[in-house]
Amino acid sequence: MSNRMIEFNCPTCLKYLEIEECKAQNPCTCPVCFQLIRFPSNEPPPPSSELVPLKIGLPKLGGLETNVSRQDAGRLGHTFLGGTLALLGVIVGGVLALKTPK
Ligand SMILES: [Zn+2]
Repeated sequence: MSNRMIEFNCPTCLKYLEIEECKAQNPCTCPVCFQLIRFPSNEPPPPSSELVPLKIGLPKLGGLETNVSRQDAGRLGHTFLGGTLALLGVIVGGVLALKTPK
């Protein structure tokens, strides 16, 4: 086990710092200026602005309630969640479209 050190300059106070990589996994504060440090190497990927294709439309639940196995219930749950998220996206998109007239 080797503790690789991450060398960087604090983005706030520009102080040169060395921090063990294992510690860098978690957000921490600069020992000099106490500002929250975000490590460039551990920066979480920015939220994708790409549109992910989602099936819009909820599954037909009618008549399935009695004969759904646990596995199917889980699958339906996922589908339902996806549908809900898609619906939410449509609603937000519609609101944004209304707020920004062309
Ligand atoms: Zn600092």
